[in-house]
Amino acid sequence: FDFAEPKNEPVLNYGPGSHERKELQKAVAELKAQVRDIPMYIDGEEVRNGEKKDIHPPHEKAHLLGHYYQSNEEHVHQAIDSALAARESWASTSWEHRANIFLKAADLLATKYRFRMNAATMLGQSKNAYQAEIDSACELIDFLRFNVHFVSQIYKGQPLSSPGINNRMEYRPLEGFILAVTPFNFTAIGGNLPTAPAMCGNVVVWKPANTQIYSASVFMEILIEAGLPAGVINLIYPPGAMVGEVCYAHPDFAGIHFTGSTGVFQSMWKSIGMNIARYKSYPRIVGETGGKDFVFAHPSAHAAAVATGLARGAFEYQGQKCSAASRAYIPSNLADEIKEKLIAQVKTMKMGPVDDFTNFINAVIDEKAFNSITKYIDAVKSSNGAAKIICGGNYDSSKGYFIEPTIIETTDASYSSMCEEIFGPVLTIYTYEADNWVEMLDVVDTTSPYALTGSIFSQDRYAIEFMAKKLVNSAGNFYINDKPTGAVVGQQPFGGARASGTNDKAGSILNLYRWLSPRTIKETY
Ligand code: GLU
Repeated sequence: FDFAEPKNEPVLNYGPGSHERKELQKAVAELKAQVRDIPMYIDGEEVRNGEKKDIHPPHEKAHLLGHYYQSNEEHVHQAIDSALAARESWASTSWEHRANIFLKAADLLATKYRFRMNAATMLGQSKNAYQAEIDSACELIDFLRFNVHFVSQIYKGQPLSSPGINNRMEYRPLEGFILAVTPFNFTAIGGNLPTAPAMCGNVVVWKPANTQIYSASVFMEILIEAGLPAGVINLIYPPGAMVGEVCYAHPDFAGIHFTGSTGVFQSMWKSIGMNIARYKSYPRIVGETGGKDFVFAHPSAHAAAVATGLARGAFEYQGQKCSAASRAYIPSNLADEIKEKLIAQVKTMKMGPVDDFTNFINAVIDEKAFNSITKYIDAVKSSNGAAKIICGGNYDSSKGYFIEPTIIETTDASYSSMCEEIFGPVLTIYTYEADNWVEMLDVVDTTSPYALTGSIFSQDRYAIEFMAKKLVNSAGNFYINDKPTGAVVGQQPFGGARASGTNDKAGSILNLYRWLSPRTIKETY
């Protein structure tokens, strides 16, 4: 049963002149030279019918990367049927065999397809080379390898037996199919959400965000090459509301593995509740649903560390991480120094397409995101002095959806951009009176309904312990003297409670338990 704990996949650095950079540039050019005709994958078949939709890089709207076929209700039913048809044989496939398929996929990703996978993420989701590497290479490889290890740990867990009584736990997969709904912002999450349940012997219908289809299809090709049997994971592209309607009304619906918005998750939960009497078992509902992540600098903080934490935490991948720093509380004694250092760093961040590796900032994902993010920037102009822009603030969607990394400063701790999730390159800063740091912690805790990530900065051990205790429910991933992004599989299990999700910690054993339904067997002899 045992698969030893792996090591985290090392991050390649793609420095100027490096072999890796050349290879990645080549992979980007190769993908750009093609117009990919992306099929659905149902029952191991490539399905190409239905309405065709174009895919463009968010940073280069005029370029055609490929197209996908929008799935209709019939496709969703076919995907469910094919999953259910594969279920028995997949569930009874030996664990070693199942595990080795995912380990092979990890090896293929780490070697043969690393640059292709990163290039697909760069082009399809407008990520720079480094952000793509830590996502679609390292994190995705880690999810596959660590999850195999975690499942093997679970399987080893057995109850006590005694002479004459043999007790055993059989870790069965769930009785039905799992729906995986995945977001655009991490290719790794796209890979983890369907594979974690599948590893445990479940069958899956996978619906990625439309803006993730390009990279999702490359990962699917890798799973197939690794030997994933037909029907175990079915990749389809239906509109979100429709796939829900079909899946939640199905008696074999056994669970959902979701990353996306709080609103969508809540309405899913309601629909599942409405259908609860139809199901064989209570479905597993596992979701990660956003954040409004804070950085709180104590008066004892190291100003340069705060500035770097904010610059990186707020603006990596254009702030489109659920974990991104988006509201900062800085003390009056350090405010000028932190702001000066932060703005100086942000001004060095070049913006442009992903093909030029010197660009740190690329485009936001699509027009809808562009419009909703820029609304917050525009609102500052009519805020009657409660807020002002102290860095960036320009945007342009003529060639791609570019928004400068933008810092808003407010004198109102409950100003809209301090409270609402923006999911873009916008950071809001509030300066508090240094003597009032204890009272400010209540503001940090109650300002937003979310509780995903948060950082505190301090050089005072007493203050660190005090803040960690006071903010005990404010974040599922709590960082001390570091940025709130960049959780590593196996090291910082990821997820939060409150409006941020069910906190079933991606990248840990806790997540895998959700995809199993144990049977306890007692045999007397
Ligand atoms: N795990 C990622 C991080 O730590 C964020 C995942 C997300 O955006 O959903 O930055």
